[in-house]
Amino acid sequence: MILTFTSLTLQKREAPAAGACTPVSGDPSVTEFALPPSPTAAGSGDLVVRFVGHSTVLVDIDGSRILTDPVLRNVFPLLRHGPSAADRDHDIDLVLISHAHQDHLDVPSLRRLSGEPLIVVPAGLERVLYQGGIRNVQGVRVGDGFVTGDGVRVLTVPAVHDGNRPPMGPRAEALGFMIEGRHSVYFAGDTDLFPQMESLGDTIDVALLPVWGWGPYLGPGHLNPQTAAVAAAMVGARISIPIHWGTLFPRGFHRVWPTRLTAPPVDFAQSVVQAGIPTEVRILRPGEETRIAAAGTAKGIGTRT
Ligand SMILES: [Zn+2]
Repeated sequence: MILTFTSLTLQKREAPAAGACTPVSGDPSVTEFALPPSPTAAGSGDLVVRFVGHSTVLVDIDGSRILTDPVLRNVFPLLRHGPSAADRDHDIDLVLISHAHQDHLDVPSLRRLSGEPLIVVPAGLERVLYQGGIRNVQGVRVGDGFVTGDGVRVLTVPAVHDGNRPPMGPRAEALGFMIEGRHSVYFAGDTDLFPQMESLGDTIDVALLPVWGWGPYLGPGHLNPQTAAVAAAMVGARISIPIHWGTLFPRGFHRVWPTRLTAPPVDFAQSVVQAGIPTEVRILRPGEETRIAAAGTAKGIGTRT
């Protein structure tokens, strides 16, 4: 895939807020998960978004298959909940990594992707991937952008989140991404609210908004169901899809805090309704996808597993 790097007009963000979600350590001994096949959007002009789980989302747009923050296996001490799939025959063109936390950047998950995708990471993380045997890597900063061979523009936007992996892990700023083709998609990564959310794009069809974390509580630098609703209003997306919930949790967690597995997206939807925010919330369970029809075509909206 040919990528042309460009410069953008987005302003550099202010210094990120202090604090971060607690990172976890990798455990390669646990069961891995595979991406489901999803060649569904090819050639149709439709946008297909599949919530693979946690912050992993497959965006099938204008012939480009873009995967965000692929974590396809358990990452100690987190267990992955939800469906697994055995099919590994899925070509990915481009991977977008938002930051270095273990529940967003998992090198073994990257190694299992087919299609030899370009891996775009916050500048400073390239070495981590090189050391993991991955060569097709591009570091980016806020304000960078590029175009896929299918003409899809990807713009790097701010995120307010400490993306470093302490204590001795890689250090790099956290990022979000705007994906722009015939449709536009905002992938927030991990972030708190920030003023520039209101000017990320003229029209945003789909916002992928984190609404929770992986434990009973959230630290700073995150959106909860209520602040994610505010983010939906600020972004002005036609459709909002809650992510970062229901997938990765510590072992035994579901017995102690069962509602944390399922409640966050529902709370988010209720907050949107209560605040009268003009966005359509689509809750996808891990593994489900939704289709947004190309402009001017018959309605093709729905979800399927
Ligand atoms: Zn994080």
